[in-house]
Amino acid sequence: MSAVPLRNNKAAASAVRAVTVLGATGSIGDSTMDLLRASRDRYQVEALTANTNVLGLATLAKEFGARFAAVADPDRLTELKDALAGTRTECGAGESAIIEAAARPADWVMAAVSGAAGLKPALAAVDRGATVALANKECLVCAGDFFMQRAAKAGACILPADSEHNALFQALGSGNREELVRVIITASGGPFRTWASADIEQATLAQALKHPNWSMGQKITIDSASMMNKGLEVIEAYYLFALTPEEIDVLVHPQSIIHGMVEFSDRSVVAQLGAPDMRTPIAHCLGWPDRIVGPAAKLDLARIGQLTFEEPDFGRFPGLRLAYDALRTGRGATTVYNAANEVAVAAFIAGKIRFGAIARLVEATMEAWVRSGNLAPLTSADDAIAVDHDARNKAATLLPQIALKAS
Ligand code: NDP
Repeated sequence: MSAVPLRNNKAAASAVRAVTVLGATGSIGDSTMDLLRASRDRYQVEALTANTNVLGLATLAKEFGARFAAVADPDRLTELKDALAGTRTECGAGESAIIEAAARPADWVMAAVSGAAGLKPALAAVDRGATVALANKECLVCAGDFFMQRAAKAGACILPADSEHNALFQALGSGNREELVRVIITASGGPFRTWASADIEQATLAQALKHPNWSMGQKITIDSASMMNKGLEVIEAYYLFALTPEEIDVLVHPQSIIHGMVEFSDRSVVAQLGAPDMRTPIAHCLGWPDRIVGPAAKLDLARIGQLTFEEPDFGRFPGLRLAYDALRTGRGATTVYNAANEVAVAAFIAGKIRFGAIARLVEATMEAWVRSGNLAPLTSADDAIAVDHDARNKAATLLPQIALKAS
């Protein structure tokens, strides 16, 4: 049985749900806390986590009466304890405390740590059969087969929180697997949608951070500008819904109103629409199997007037092409794709490489990894983490020559 539930597979929602938010101080965490704030009587907060933002974490833990708060930075335990002195919230620090937070008995867990660091905590929630709203796409990109198999084995329920996958999840209920022809993931095209390659090459950090439609964390906003984010989402859809690369299309849709579509054999195309606000897909996950009241603006199509569509440009946005290459290579290639991209984005933020070099570093790392011949299926989190580390080292080694190389 798939870990992503089918429409007729609804379990009854209990009256008060215990919830945990991994990455509570981030952008997705903030939207999730906003929804919880609006329905305080329906949810009890079990655990909240952050990386270094002790003050933000402690403020949320106090506001929601969280039972446990954990910060990933092991040196900040005393600071967290001081900030929560006089409350009943237990404190923890370090990676093991983040995993403990995920393992504690919450019915519903938001997995919104950013990056590959989110894998082990998400697995801890999956292993106890929790309902996991999955925002962290890296879990799937780094260890997709393995992650979904573990979820199915443990009876965990994976609810896609990423807007496009949540849209597909909602639309997929209109037909059966055998009737599915393809899924279509929409992309805003990001701030460089209409830019020439030479200008994209030289884009600054400030320009990359100006997303036209969505307000998100820094890393994902840069990934949107390079369309690496869409590549990560293609990989995410492949694993979540057990698709082939040929069954996943990307369509540029600058207004970000249609988030995803599914085409069935009778040529019906079922779409999910909504204002670009992450609180809508998160509300869908939080309420599931029911629907709760969402705070996003009501969709006013008459005011928007026009919805437009374009083919994605794989030439100007090579990061998207590389995602399909990684899927076709398999055996850890998507892990390498993600790891090299994380290294490249960090280098771009630090001013070490140009924007255009992000995709070049990812491609060079993937090629080096294929040449190394170390290709094997990933069968554990440690396998995935080993490939992730190896790819980061390769990318770091290749970084100086990529930095010097002009496009
Ligand atoms: P943010 O950077 O805004 O927040 C990340 C959260 O994770 C923060 O709480 C941060 O803590 C915590 N964190 C960071 N590193 C670690 C670590 N090593 N160990 C433990 N906790 C850590 O990211 P977003 O909210 O934007 O994204 C979170 C995930 O959701 C990503 O995988 C992203 O791709 C995905 N996503 C995001 C969307 C969005 O709209 N933002 C849309 C769809 C998916 P601290 O605050 O202390 O740094």
